[in-house]
Amino acid sequence: MEKIKMTTPLVEMDGDEMTRILWAMIKEKLILPFVDLKTEYYDLGLLHRNETKDQVTVDAANATKRLGVAVKCATITPNKQRMEEYPELTEMWKSPNGTIRSILDGTVFRTPICIDAIKPVVKNWKKPITIARHAYGDVYKAVDMETTEPGTATLTFTGDSGEVKTLTVQKVDGPAVWQGAHNKESSIRSFARSCFQYAVDTRQDLWFSTKDTIAKVYDGAFKRIFEEEFAHYKAKFEELGITYFYTLIDDAVARVIRSEGGYIWACKNYDGDVMSDMVSTAFGSLAMMTSVLVAPDGTTEYEAAHGTVTRHYYKYLKGEQTSTNPMATIFAWSGALKKRGQLDGLSDLVTFGEKLEEACFDTLNDGIMTKDLVGLVEPGFLATAVTSEAFLDAIAERLRNKLA
Ligand code: NAP
Ligand code: MG
Repeated sequence: MEKIKMTTPLVEMDGDEMTRILWAMIKEKLILPFVDLKTEYYDLGLLHRNETKDQVTVDAANATKRLGVAVKCATITPNKQRMEEYPELTEMWKSPNGTIRSILDGTVFRTPICIDAIKPVVKNWKKPITIARHAYGDVYKAVDMETTEPGTATLTFTGDSGEVKTLTVQKVDGPAVWQGAHNKESSIRSFARSCFQYAVDTRQDLWFSTKDTIAKVYDGAFKRIFEEEFAHYKAKFEELGITYFYTLIDDAVARVIRSEGGYIWACKNYDGDVMSDMVSTAFGSLAMMTSVLVAPDGTTEYEAAHGTVTRHYYKYLKGEQTSTNPMATIFAWSGALKKRGQLDGLSDLVTFGEKLEEACFDTLNDGIMTKDLVGLVEPGFLATAVTSEAFLDAIAERLRNKLA
């Protein structure tokens, strides 16, 4: 069989622990036998980030800007415990995802991979719900303080021009707590653009929700900026038959629960933090959740939403076979290859990505799955837990037949 050709390389970011092991196995069994793979490789493994003083993460992000599409393996974000585990670390390096996100100025879209054998907790959800979380500002960049006596708090802005604006927050008659939050127009605009862009790319409706009836100026700005940006996408939305729908956050929550799914839900930072945990839990498993970072200019990075699965890695190091679920990481690869194929006009590469995903679904529908999923299937569905390696072999066999 002749291998499928690529023209532009993908940016490939390798990572850590169990997902690094899966990464190599996915390439060996599912990609390299079929695709004449072209990548620009960046090793974001913790020790290599340390050796390069984290320059490799910045280089990988800049390469993504240049080439347009990246696929990333899960990586360790060092904390105190990791500093003890890896004494050679010279610094507690920042989260690679945070670094990449700030360089690309992108928004993260999380989507569950759904199969018939595993039903969402919410019975009427038939299609995946994608959550887009704004990742800048609000309570996450707020300052807060406590006061102990009666008094008045004010909010003052001093412009670089010297102009001053002041508001009274509240006069209190006793101890109180205070918070000062902000967001930037540029960040909200980038968020809006990424959301409209991704809705067009995936041909799904876009929902957006805030509380602008209460926070008239603050959330009102979010609503207004989304409307302004939508003006640039309106014709494209009409052409594709998709819609942009704005509603209040409480109304959105009620509608989401009653819906069939199949749309993107854009959320402010806090709403997205809370709602993404609810939606992903209701769909079943973190191991079946994909994550896509989309920049306002359409630059896209694909990955799994889960981490490096440390507990399984330590079993692997002891020589034990593990049953770690590679689905989300495979879908990161298929997503990136499909996107590369679309941008470069390579229909064979797009078809390969689609067949790879079909082969994964066929394997699961045949009852061959990793241990984490066996516990979630509907009563009566016959499922066998296999190792990661056996699972990948079963997918490879089905993929080979599809491509023959
Ligand atoms: P995790 O790696 O997502 O794993 C937490 C637990 O979830 C696992 O122990 C496992 O449960 C289950 N799980 C997650 N993915 C699975 C899969 N593919 N197959 C089967 N089970 C899976 O989260 P963590 O243990 O909190 O974090 C580990 C490291 O990952 C940390 O160093 C963190 O910094 C990093 N991290 C990276 C990213 C990223 O790069 N995007 C995201 C999150 C975390 P059982 O043990 O019960 O089987
Ligand atoms: Mg959270």
